[in-house]
Amino acid sequence: MSRTRQARLRPLCDLPPDTLLVSEIFASIQGESTYAGRPCGFVRVTGCNLRCTYCDTTYAYEGGARLSVDAVMSRLSALGLPLIEVTGGEPLLQPAVPVLLSRLCDAGLTVLLETNGSLELAAVDPRVVKIVDLKAPSSGEARRNRMQNLERLAKTDELKLVLAGRGDYEWARRLVREHRLDERCTVLFGAVHGALAPELLAAWILEDRLPVRLQLQLHKILYGARQRGV
Ligand code: SF4
Repeated sequence: MSRTRQARLRPLCDLPPDTLLVSEIFASIQGESTYAGRPCGFVRVTGCNLRCTYCDTTYAYEGGARLSVDAVMSRLSALGLPLIEVTGGEPLLQPAVPVLLSRLCDAGLTVLLETNGSLELAAVDPRVVKIVDLKAPSSGEARRNRMQNLERLAKTDELKLVLAGRGDYEWARRLVREHRLDERCTVLFGAVHGALAPELLAAWILEDRLPVRLQLQLHKILYGARQRGV
């Protein structure tokens, strides 16, 4: 393992298998995906193996509290929401996350997993809605896209492509067409906040009649770009 990767994963060293390192747990309006607009409970776990240029959750790279799966379940239960998203950081770096996901499904909740697309999805309970990033070139992490993950997607899953400019858009358009992404699941195109105007992205999608869904980050419209826990 490279030193860079070792350093990025350091916060997760020595984490017991039934324990999560959690950055925050909160209730908010879901801002992304086809579930946008719905009240949702969030668990944001600590640690990420990537460093996207536009990352808006750098505070989740380190820190956080060690909580058992039971403790996370009870904090989420106290929120009283039927929709839960597990996000990060990168949730699949933590072995206890697939356990938590299955426990949430067993509790009858609708469960979303947001993952950066660089890790194997096999351990994820099939009842979970996977929201998988495909990293565009301007993220600086496109080489980490695990394209085999496309075969693990169900119709109910979602692919998310966050774009910073025309170059990213043309890359994403090629990917949609070459891999027929829209036939696999819902495909979401979003704009990097402050880098690409959503109306421009909307115009490009419309011009190309691209079978994707434009995604605005509703939580940022509601609460601003720099807040935590929203
Ligand atoms: S994968 Fe997500 S959390 Fe990790 S660096 Fe990229 S944007 Fe940030």
